[in-house]
Amino acid sequence: MPAKPSATSSPGSAVPSAVPPFDPRDPLGLDDLLTDEDRAVRDTVRAWAADRVLPHIADWYERGELPGIRELARELGSLGALGMSLTGYGCAGASAVQYGLACLELEAADSGIRSLVSVQGSLAMYAIRRFGSEEQKQQWLPRMAAGEIIGCFGLTEPDIGSDPAAMRTHAKRDGSGGDWVLNGRKMWITNGSVAGVAVVWARTDDGIRGFLVPTDTPGFSAPEIKHKWSLRASVTSELVLDDVRLPADAVLPEAIGLRGPLGCLSHARYGIIWGSMGAARTSFEAALEYATTREQFGKPIGGFQLTQAKLADMAVELHKGILLAHHLGLRMDAGRLRPEQVSFGKLNNVREAIEICRTARTVLGANGISLEYPVMRHATNLESVLTYEGTVEMHQLVLGKALTGLDAFR
Ligand code: FAD
Repeated sequence: MPAKPSATSSPGSAVPSAVPPFDPRDPLGLDDLLTDEDRAVRDTVRAWAADRVLPHIADWYERGELPGIRELARELGSLGALGMSLTGYGCAGASAVQYGLACLELEAADSGIRSLVSVQGSLAMYAIRRFGSEEQKQQWLPRMAAGEIIGCFGLTEPDIGSDPAAMRTHAKRDGSGGDWVLNGRKMWITNGSVAGVAVVWARTDDGIRGFLVPTDTPGFSAPEIKHKWSLRASVTSELVLDDVRLPADAVLPEAIGLRGPLGCLSHARYGIIWGSMGAARTSFEAALEYATTREQFGKPIGGFQLTQAKLADMAVELHKGILLAHHLGLRMDAGRLRPEQVSFGKLNNVREAIEICRTARTVLGANGISLEYPVMRHATNLESVLTYEGTVEMHQLVLGKALTGLDAFR
C-alpha cells in the first residue's frame, strides 16, 4: 500500500534528488533543448532589447512613433538580426531555432520591434535572396543585412487582404527597353515610409510578379498610417504607385505567381510563432510578479485559487507554445517544415498569446490598463499579429483543407 500523502504535501512533490529544481521561468526545462550557441544568441538579443527598447517603449507607444528607427536598424544589423537565417551577402546564416529565439526576445520587448526585423529579413530580404537575380542580391542584401537600407513588402491593398490573387496593382511593359510601369495602391505596409526599397507585388500579363522599387523612384510615395491602437511603435504605411517606371531588370526573375509572396509569408509566419510567445512571456511574468506582491483580503492575490488557476493555465499555454515553436524550428532546420505546419503554429501561438496577455491584464486589475505595465501594450499589439501574415480564419482554412482535402476558401 502506498503511504498516504501527509496533510502538507502536494501532488507531485516527491522527486529524485538528481532532478533539477522547478524553475517558474522555465517549468518544462526547455532551456535544456538549446545549444550554447542558441543561448548566446538569445542572451545577446535579450540584452540589446533591455538596453535599447525597454527603457523607452512605453513612451514611443504613447506617442505612436518609433523614433531612431534607422539607428535601431543599424544596431540590429550589427547584431546579425537582419536576414538572420539567410546565408551569404552579409547575412548571419544562423539556424532557424536561433532566428526564432531572436524573434521571441525582440517581441518580449515589443511586437513593433519584432515586426521591423521580420519584415526586413523574412519578407523583403528573403524575397530577394530566394527569388532575386545575382545582381539584385549583390545590390541590396549586404546593405539591408547591415541595416543601412530598410525594406518593406507590399502585398495587401485597400480592398484586397486575405485574397491576394485578386490584387489590382498592375505592372505593364512599356517601351523598347522593356521598362515596367506600375500603378496601384498598397495598404498596411510595415516600414513603408522609412524604406529605401519596396518589394511590390503586382499583376502582369504573366501572372503576379514581384518588383524591387527604390523608394526615390518618381511616382512612388508612402504616406504613414496614423491613429492606430495597435503596433503603435511600428511604422505602417500606404504605398502609392502612380506610373512608377522601372527598368526591365527590376522584376524578381524567379517569382512567378502567388508562390512568390506566399513563400515569403511562410518564412515570416515562422518568426511570429516564436515572437508571439515573447509577448506572452512578458505578460505572464508581469502577472506572476504582481500576483505575489499585490495584497487583497489580507494576503497576496496569488494565494487565491482563482488567481493560481489563471497563472497555471497561462504557464501551460506559454511553455507549450515555446515547445511547439522549437519543434517547428528543428523541422525548418532539417528542411522538413511544411506550410500547413507553419499555419498550425501561427494559429495556436498567436491565439494563445493574446489570451495570455488578456488574462494577465485581469490579474493586474486596474493597473493592467496602464502603460506603466507591459500587458495591455502587448495585448493590443497582438490584435495586429492575429490579423497580419494570415488571419486566424485563413490558418484555420489552411488546416481544414489539409485535414479534409476540401477547399473552403471560396
Ligand atoms: P480581410 O481579408 O478583408 O478579412 C476580414 C475578415 O474576414 C477577417 O477576419 C478574415 O479572416 C475574414 N475572411 C476573409 N475571407 C474569409 C473566408 N474565405 N472565410 C472566412 N473568413 C474570411 N500587409 C502587407 O502586405 N505587408 C505588410 O508589411 C503588412 N503589415 C501590416 C501591419 C499591420 C499593423 C497590420 C494591421 C496589417 C499589415 N498587413 C501587411 C496587412 C495584413 O496582412 C492584412 O490585414 C491581412 O492579410 C488581412 O487582410 P484584411 O485586413 O484586408 O482583412
